[in-house]
Amino acid sequence: MKIPFNKPYLQGKELTYITDAVVCGKISGDGVFSKKCQEFFQTKYQFYRTFLTTSCSDALEMSALLLNIGPDDEVILPSFTFASTANAFALRGAKLVFADSSPESPNIDTESIRDLITPRTKAIVVVHYAGMACNMEEIMALAQRHQIHVIEDAAQAIDSFYKGKPLGSFGTLAAFSFHETKNIISGEGGLLVVNHSEYVKRAEIIREKGTNRSAFFRGEIDKYDWVDLGSSFLPSELNAAYLFAQLEFMQNIQQKRIYIWNKYMQTLGPILQKYQVGIPIIPDGGTNNGHLFYLVCRSLEERQNLIQYLNRRRIMSAYHYQSLHKSTYYLGRHDGRVLKNSDRFSDCLLRLPLYFELEDQQIDWIVSSVIDFYKSI
Ligand SMILES: *Cc1c(COP(=O)(O)O)cnc(C)c1O
Repeated sequence: MKIPFNKPYLQGKELTYITDAVVCGKISGDGVFSKKCQEFFQTKYQFYRTFLTTSCSDALEMSALLLNIGPDDEVILPSFTFASTANAFALRGAKLVFADSSPESPNIDTESIRDLITPRTKAIVVVHYAGMACNMEEIMALAQRHQIHVIEDAAQAIDSFYKGKPLGSFGTLAAFSFHETKNIISGEGGLLVVNHSEYVKRAEIIREKGTNRSAFFRGEIDKYDWVDLGSSFLPSELNAAYLFAQLEFMQNIQQKRIYIWNKYMQTLGPILQKYQVGIPIIPDGGTNNGHLFYLVCRSLEERQNLIQYLNRRRIMSAYHYQSLHKSTYYLGRHDGRVLKNSDRFSDCLLRLPLYFELEDQQIDWIVSSVIDFYKSI
């Protein structure tokens, strides 16, 4: 039996709620289920305002529009991230300034940000890799000192905290993902978090194709109009219905994922450390949300061999990301700085299967396979 890398979870209630949405005759966006999802996040995490979006990529694109980021602006972001983190700002014509990862984790190297700030820097985008917090205390202090916005790419960071405060509540804006590879899913989906009141009204307009349709539906104006730039960033109620069922079940999902993560850590951690193989480190003040478990091989070759070894035992593992400063699209545009930690994670990081339905015996098999591999080399 093959162990896939990921398996999207279906609790069961999703289908009931989708049927409810269809039967009640409202399947476009901003119906009952969208509102329930948004309220869920506002209540549970005290986010100032939330907007369900079609993806995290779209929530990031909305962020770039909301902060009026354009060709005169520079945006600092990690190179070790998904293309969406960069696309959102590149689409507005901004100059991307890639930062290195820290030596001990794929998160942005806080120290390195300082030297990248110029008078044109408009925003720092942080990515909480594996749902583990960047050093938000230092990053927020630095941003405040230079009057720069912080945007959190919290795609992987649902239900994770830094010094007791939920990730997604630090930046001016934050973006979550409900893509089927994340902890809580809706197929494709995302959430924009607006942490300051001054951005709420425009976020609503940008999300509704640049129109003031939301205000119209609330009866605040008697006709609606094209008033700003925007696009169609709101998801269908079918997606929101799926998502709401997952949110209701979130505690169980999180419990199980953290259980699996802890099991990997307890059984593999000490052995991998003995071989000088990297393992995740929960940052000071941070939490682990069970999003992903990774190891950092000692070389690219070792990682390739481990992937093949696991594959022969019918275990699917996965690596990512190609450093964006070395990507096909960006290589010729990069300023030439070497980002050695980012490159090392690109070459050496490997993710192990982690999904709700992963069973104890399967975890044991994966763990013993990784151990057998290291014993064999
Ligand atoms: C998954 C992910 C995204 C993209 O999310 P979508 O909802 O698929 O657009 C962006 N950034 C990071 C760090 C991710 O892990």
